[in-house]
Amino acid sequence: MRRKPKDTPFTDRIRLATFTTVLLTIVLIGRLYYLQIIQHEKYALLSNRNRIRIRPIIPKRGCILALNNIPLAFTGVKYRLIGDSSLKKDLESDVKSLLADSRAAKFIRPGLLEKVKNSLPYSHVVIKDEMTWVQANQCLPLLNKYKALYLDNCYYRVYPLGASACHLVGYTSAPSTKHALPPEYKCGKTGVEERFDLLLAGEFGVKKTEVNARSIPVKDLCDYEAESGQNLETTIDAALQKFVHKLLSVHRAASCVVMNIENGHILAMVSTPGFDPNRLTNDQKYWQHVMQTSTNPLMNRSIAGLYPPGSTFKPVVALAALKAGVISRNTKIFCPGYMRLGNHVFHCWKRSGHGYVNVEQAIASSCDVFFYNLGLRLKLSDIAEMAASFGLGTKTEVNVPHEQPGRILLGRPLGGGHTAQRVLAAIGQGSVVVTPIGLCVMVAQIANGGHRIFPTLNKGETSPHEPLGISSKHIEIVKNGMFWVCNKPGSSGYACGYSAKYPIAGKTGTAQVVSLSDKRGHLWQYKDHALFIAYGPADRPKYAVAVVVDHGKSGALSCIPVARQVFDYIEANEKPADS
Ligand SMILES: [Zn+2]
Repeated sequence: MRRKPKDTPFTDRIRLATFTTVLLTIVLIGRLYYLQIIQHEKYALLSNRNRIRIRPIIPKRGCILALNNIPLAFTGVKYRLIGDSSLKKDLESDVKSLLADSRAAKFIRPGLLEKVKNSLPYSHVVIKDEMTWVQANQCLPLLNKYKALYLDNCYYRVYPLGASACHLVGYTSAPSTKHALPPEYKCGKTGVEERFDLLLAGEFGVKKTEVNARSIPVKDLCDYEAESGQNLETTIDAALQKFVHKLLSVHRAASCVVMNIENGHILAMVSTPGFDPNRLTNDQKYWQHVMQTSTNPLMNRSIAGLYPPGSTFKPVVALAALKAGVISRNTKIFCPGYMRLGNHVFHCWKRSGHGYVNVEQAIASSCDVFFYNLGLRLKLSDIAEMAASFGLGTKTEVNVPHEQPGRILLGRPLGGGHTAQRVLAAIGQGSVVVTPIGLCVMVAQIANGGHRIFPTLNKGETSPHEPLGISSKHIEIVKNGMFWVCNKPGSSGYACGYSAKYPIAGKTGTAQVVSLSDKRGHLWQYKDHALFIAYGPADRPKYAVAVVVDHGKSGALSCIPVARQVFDYIEANEKPADS
């Protein structure tokens, strides 16, 4: 009888191998299923990331336009030499070769090699930015020699009015945020560029490129075009803006705002000194020069310069006195040329005195003693409330960023107040400071009979016409006084109204910086500020002007020639561009 063969160790090994093979096959199939089916989306995405390069396409920034579609800022196209970081080793070697190439020296910026070494893979490094067509042509031989370099076009911002509208328009520069934006992307900084950045900027596009295992582009897959930014139509009259800038340029520092009273449209807003926005962001030396200039060219004095209003504040004080009933139209106060208060003597600018004057005459002759007396009769709160009615303590909310609000009697009791403080407040000195645009809006609101105006630079906006709650009779009294300022021989503003094509009304002002006894008074920075506010035509007001000359001594001397020429310009251009 044959014996059933016994299991041998060899047979056991076959069984174990078979079992292990089956088990591994199951695990492998399971893993394949997991990777191919369950995790398909994830790994497809990762694979695409390796295969597809995505590069943002910068949108073309919209234009900022003055009236009649005259450009205040537009986007031009230039060229740039780019280093492709996806070919990093080639690029490093190219840049090293460039460093040794004397012909290419002009393309090399300090620290370029470091920048290349630190660049992210699949990004690009700008070797030379904003080149003209001629410069780009000079680069062409380099492209044949260095394979990690290529030419691309790029946008740059052009400001045709240069310094004439620099504060108003602003400039563009690299964003300060940490968002992953392309290094060459620029956003609006200051002015209209900043305020309307979202509208002007447009939408980024995307460029997808397929690359091989060595990250070399092999195929353009698809482009999602960038969406250009929108154009912004402003209310600015470009010729008037340039004209006013020329008028102000004779002064070391000055500002002027010209506004259409009927709709709040700003026709010109100039601040000097200024800067050339075409050079500011790309010329480091120029930037440093601007930053180191003591008169602060970056400051937009029209909206951020704070000045005591001086006598331009007197119409507000007169309205406060008329409202409080401490004077009437016919109340006369005697001016002997001074007013004694305790041990202190407050002088009228006219030392010989004005004699008996009523409110209209006091505004026309800018009699200080008349207004000292109003200060004594009024509470500070009366003056503060009237000033607030004209919006002097707040921002005008004009659509230019970084506006400063004025201040009225800040930190002082509003009930009674110290006597000397009330006296000084009544002539616009002491605790009152305003901006030129605040003054322009104030005089415009007097001119239109006491209706609120919101100034704007956006042509699509119109200011509402809300009453301020001030007696129209009182406003007419003040307007009469302001008319005589410019139309009575010998008055401070007569040079503005004299033989003008249409009647002008206004008020001069001089704001003290240091006291008369201060020995530094001969230095420019301690001289008085000069101010002038005006509107015209006086009988049917349409335009308001505010001029401030920093340390210009007297409003009549420094500001009136500017305002008069502005009105002459408007009159000569029979149909102002905004009407
Ligand atoms: Zn007087």
